[in-house]
Amino acid sequence: MKQSNFILFADCIPVKGINRSIICDTKSNNFYLIPNGLYDILENYNGKTIEDIKNDSEHKYDEIIDEYFDYLIDNKLIFFNSNPDLFPKMSTEWNSPSLITNIIIDYETIIHDFNVLIPQFETLKCSYIQLRFYKNISIDYIRNIAELLKKEKSRIVSIDFIIPYYEKFNLEELNTLLSENSRIHSIVVFNSPYNKSFKPLRQNMGYIMQVARNISNEKYCGIINEEYFYSNIKLFSESIHHNTCLNRKISIDKYGYIKNCPSMTASFGNIKDTTLEEALNKPHFKKYWNITKDQITVCKDCEFRHICTDCRAYTEEPENFYSKPLKCGYDPYKNEWSEWSTNPLKQKGIEYYAIPTPHTSPSTT
Ligand code: SF4
Repeated sequence: MKQSNFILFADCIPVKGINRSIICDTKSNNFYLIPNGLYDILENYNGKTIEDIKNDSEHKYDEIIDEYFDYLIDNKLIFFNSNPDLFPKMSTEWNSPSLITNIIIDYETIIHDFNVLIPQFETLKCSYIQLRFYKNISIDYIRNIAELLKKEKSRIVSIDFIIPYYEKFNLEELNTLLSENSRIHSIVVFNSPYNKSFKPLRQNMGYIMQVARNISNEKYCGIINEEYFYSNIKLFSESIHHNTCLNRKISIDKYGYIKNCPSMTASFGNIKDTTLEEALNKPHFKKYWNITKDQITVCKDCEFRHICTDCRAYTEEPENFYSKPLKCGYDPYKNEWSEWSTNPLKQKGIEYYAIPTPHTSPSTT
């Protein structure tokens, strides 16, 4: 078998960082750390034989090459076939029929009329919606929104709710809500006494997650860590061409202002007198859409750049359009994670945005 040509599975895509690389398994949402030497082999020899590589390196590294291939075989990342032309690379082009793919709506008080908003979601051909409640909300209100979206036969296929932990937290009540509404993707309950995830009711849909973390205003957003890495071909491809946080996304902040993201200051009107479509068509609304990780300082050298998100609301250097997300503690030059909020280089940004950290009082603005 090993004498034949090796082929990397098409949905396994290597990404090179400054010190090391990863293979993103976009089918199983997983990634494998690999040395840059192996990345170069995969880039230059995919479709050739192991013997070709050994011959080209004059058999100086045969042992290392064997180790590399044992790793690839053990992890089912490659297969062997004598006709590699039958297995082209997967396309990483990205497009969407939607003018807007995702909408985020923030709540402190209820100022939104869903009867007015739902037709606007349809105009934008939007399929995903996330509702974030910073203050206590009745389960009936959540149920009504889910029912309304069902009744209107809307194209929204996935709704995420983020709600605070409440005194009479009742898991059974939330489970009933999930079982009655197949479009609810998740209910995340923040400020919970502990972290706990519950099994989805349907395949990857309909789950409750309790998190101890506080998310009681938009300033708590934008945190980058390994738990939030996501690898599927749609997102991977989008990240090659666009900013995955902002491309084809629209938000309504807690005051009704229409923005790229609730954490950003620029507003494109208020839902009281502006439609989402009007806001979308205003100059500069799309200015962040095509900023890719390959243009961001530090991130462009990071092996995780195509499975990571890219917060443009809070950046390390607030005046620099292309600086690294403030709330990332990863250093791709040392391959180390550290606590971002205590990093001396980040203090200027933390003060500038008045970001609540474990060391400061939460902001209520
Ligand atoms: S350095 Fe950039 S790409 Fe790497 S983990 Fe941090 S934010 Fe993501």
